[in-house]
Amino acid sequence: MKRGNRRKKIFIFVIILVLIALFSFFYFNYNKEKITADVVTKSDIKTVDLTNPDPDTREEVKIPIIMYHHIRSYDREDDPIGTNLSISEEIFTEHLDHLKTNGYTTITFDSLNKFPNSALPQKPIILTFDDGYDDNYQAYKLLKKNGMVGTFYIISNYIDRAGHLTLEQITKMSESGMEIGSHTMNHLDLANISEEKLASELRESKVRLEEVTKKPVEGFCYPAGKYNQHVVKMVENAGYKTATTTKTGIASTKDPRFELKRLRVSHNDGLKSFINKLND
Ligand SMILES: [Zn+2]
Repeated sequence: MKRGNRRKKIFIFVIILVLIALFSFFYFNYNKEKITADVVTKSDIKTVDLTNPDPDTREEVKIPIIMYHHIRSYDREDDPIGTNLSISEEIFTEHLDHLKTNGYTTITFDSLNKFPNSALPQKPIILTFDDGYDDNYQAYKLLKKNGMVGTFYIISNYIDRAGHLTLEQITKMSESGMEIGSHTMNHLDLANISEEKLASELRESKVRLEEVTKKPVEGFCYPAGKYNQHVVKMVENAGYKTATTTKTGIASTKDPRFELKRLRVSHNDGLKSFINKLND
């Protein structure tokens, strides 16, 4: 009996030891897994941060902004200014073909505003048209035919005037995905008008164009490129998100949003000259 009891005790003792050993083994491994898991998670985050950051938040994106006026065949010695602001539909088409075959994607300022929260396409480019001339409707048709977009800066008091886009045309262009921006009410020199006039030129043109498009109008263009730092502030206060100038250069996502540079296209800017401007 005594011997049997002792054996029993040893047996129970061994069982307890085995249980402790098993418990310790699993417990240790469980924690080890947990610790490993924590480490993996942390190092994963670290890896993501170091090797795969959102490229758009890291990189500066260059965006050429092209400045067009008239798209028409026009060459008159008695009107050098009008001639210089005009390029033919044929040349304009050559520009579009070049952009298409060279991997550019036309965007609007809306895409620039959404950056870096939304990515930009490869080789983004913005095509702008100043003054809302009636021939811009033809430009719009060519853009649409090529699956492209453009930004049309409209002088709100010139809508329906001779030589300018009609209300109906602007509505249609906006509905087709073209961006309508403001070029003020009367195309005045904003750096040299009263405070009151400046405020109304900025705000009322915005309201008017928003009535026409039923969309927010957030793009602005300084008439004749004239502005000063006070005007810049007023444009921002009026609720715009971007403003383009007549200063020459290729814009970038790092540039001040209310002083964006552009590339002017003039009468003599055929395809070759256009390509040179893009590659400068
Ligand atoms: Zn203008």
